[in-house]
Amino acid sequence: MIKKEIIERIRNEVDIVDLIGSYLPLKKVGRYYRALCPFHTEKAPSFYVSPERQIYHCFGCGAGGTALTFVMNFEKLSFPEAVKSLANRLGIAIELDKVSITNQPLYDTTEFAANFFTQQLQRSELAQNYLRQRNLKPETIERFRLGYAPGGNRLYGEAKRRNIKEELLLATGLVVKKEAGYYDWFFDRIIFPIFSLSGKIIGFGGRVLDPTQEPKYLNSPETTIFRKGENFYGLFQAKNYLRENKPIVVEGNFDLLSLVDKGILNVVAPLGTALTNEQALILRRYANCAIIAFDGDTSGRAATQRAIEVLLKASVEPLILLLPDGYDPDKYILQYGKEGFLQALGQLYDYIGFITTILPNRTIQEKRAVLDKIIELTALIGDELTQELYLNKIAQTYNLDKTVLRHRLQRKEVKKTETNTTINKLERLLAIIVQEPTYAAIAKAELPLNLIDDAGLVTIAQMIYENVGTDNEFGFAQLIDALPTEDLKAKIASWAFSQETAPKKQEFLLRLKELKANYLYRELLKAKQANQTTEFERITNEYYEVKRQISLMRQITQNRGS
Ligand SMILES: [Zn+2]
Repeated sequence: MIKKEIIERIRNEVDIVDLIGSYLPLKKVGRYYRALCPFHTEKAPSFYVSPERQIYHCFGCGAGGTALTFVMNFEKLSFPEAVKSLANRLGIAIELDKVSITNQPLYDTTEFAANFFTQQLQRSELAQNYLRQRNLKPETIERFRLGYAPGGNRLYGEAKRRNIKEELLLATGLVVKKEAGYYDWFFDRIIFPIFSLSGKIIGFGGRVLDPTQEPKYLNSPETTIFRKGENFYGLFQAKNYLRENKPIVVEGNFDLLSLVDKGILNVVAPLGTALTNEQALILRRYANCAIIAFDGDTSGRAATQRAIEVLLKASVEPLILLLPDGYDPDKYILQYGKEGFLQALGQLYDYIGFITTILPNRTIQEKRAVLDKIIELTALIGDELTQELYLNKIAQTYNLDKTVLRHRLQRKEVKKTETNTTINKLERLLAIIVQEPTYAAIAKAELPLNLIDDAGLVTIAQMIYENVGTDNEFGFAQLIDALPTEDLKAKIASWAFSQETAPKKQEFLLRLKELKANYLYRELLKAKQANQTTEFERITNEYYEVKRQISLMRQITQNRGS
């Protein structure tokens, strides 16, 4: 457990605008700061940070929370890990042994496996020969900690000898359980450890040595620490080079290793999947454009088209390296060297050039199909100015009137959905009492927890009530950090942005009583249906008493008003 005081100190010393601003470009808009949301793909920014409240909230996807929540979600850390990371950043001393890092045993297990695989590589002439044929320098093999998984359940055997528990091997996807026992996930494969941004091993990729074996590539299954679509192969090694040089996205692990081996370091590879929205968002942290360098065959070009869409949606400008048919980056750099590859990088296509080049473009019908595709892609661009520049280019390239293009474009653009900011009555009430201790005391007396029938809101109300009458510092930020789930944290963050101003005391009490009356009414109906006569009478009496109080209060308010 981490001491409460440490969390409070972090809350006092961290500035959420500085913190989030170090990850994303924030723009000041009135009282808030705004950015494109890092947690969902969007064209127009709906991610807001409040310096006063030290809270962020996305009106698009509902993500929200404090500095701690942000670090947890952005860096994919557990709560104690996020506390540790922020404490480090602020120079707050924190006793290490008090931090229970929940995923550490999993990382220890993957680290053990990585060491095992590299040892096995040193012992296998066959595997070493294979890598030699790939022309990789020993430094590259070492830097990426390549290894070899032999057959015969050797990893499982070694783990047993070292008393590593089966649950850990299962939880990291290193073994699978079958009826007859436990089996290694990888066998007779070259192993590529996959690193997190902080350099921990989260999973593995494996490539067959025997070309007749299927599948050619196999990744670890998804686990609590490994989600394919949210990581890149090689990102950890490339991250320091992605800001000065545009990120190059390649399809295969060997493409990546080959480029790095020849000194091109700004390369990442999606993990055997098509480029995902999450991966595009990762790229956007480093650059506003990315180079797609996929295979120069039909499937590589189809994958390039999909990647263009994903990047445009995430506001990352795609630049395309079109390799000759039959080449992938690995083969190209082996044949033409680093210089040749850099030369090729000097002739990148934008998506207009790419689509125009790869689709048939001779007849009127073909030209129309090409234009349709290009306009469809242009509609995905969020930034108006960028969109305008591309429209100009399309108009010039195809010698067309821009107004016609714009008209066509507007029809393709998806209407932005209205953000739903309706908060129900009880939520609005709770949002008020988070910041108003005197009102919290009234609510605690008038609206006991058993009158709240939503489990999440009970948890929230309970935490607020617990602080009534104490001199604890309490507000949105404290509540968010204390709540157990992401959903509840995000809910409170949205309240903080609802700008609910506290009503007068009388009005507040009235709303409280109305909620209570609604609740009692539902309860008396239930009692009636269940034929609980005495219970029904008791609740009915209580209900009418509350209704009487409400009408009395209304009269007083009205008399005051007249
Ligand atoms: Zn969002």
